Amino acid sequence: MVAEQEPTCSHVGKIDRHMKPKTHGCEECLAMGDSWVHLRLCMQCGHVGCCDDSKNKHATKHFHKTKHPIMRSLEPGELWGWCYVDDLGFDPI
Ligand SMILES: [Zn+2]
Ligand SMILES: [Zn+2]
Ligand SMILES: [Zn+2]
Repeated sequence: MVAEQEPTCSHVGKIDRHMKPKTHGCEECLAMGDSWVHLRLCMQCGHVGCCDDSKNKHATKHFHKTKHPIMRSLEPGELWGWCYVDDLGFDPI
């Protein structure tokens, strides 16, 4: 038997868990006058982007542009975060 290695994320320990959203909606969608489905918060800079169910997918685009790896859901009652680099979820509290 070979012990399976626990997947770990080296990024979660470096973020500010009290990061405040910079805008009250997806920054880019607000600028374009467009709409979104759900919101995601970048835990590195406070950028608010829309989720992959939204047509503009600005949260994922923000990661590709900035390489900020950690985001969390901004939806009320949704307590989960995600690391794009490691493809791993984490508990943001
Ligand atoms: Zn990570
Ligand atoms: Zn958007
Ligand atoms: Zn960011």
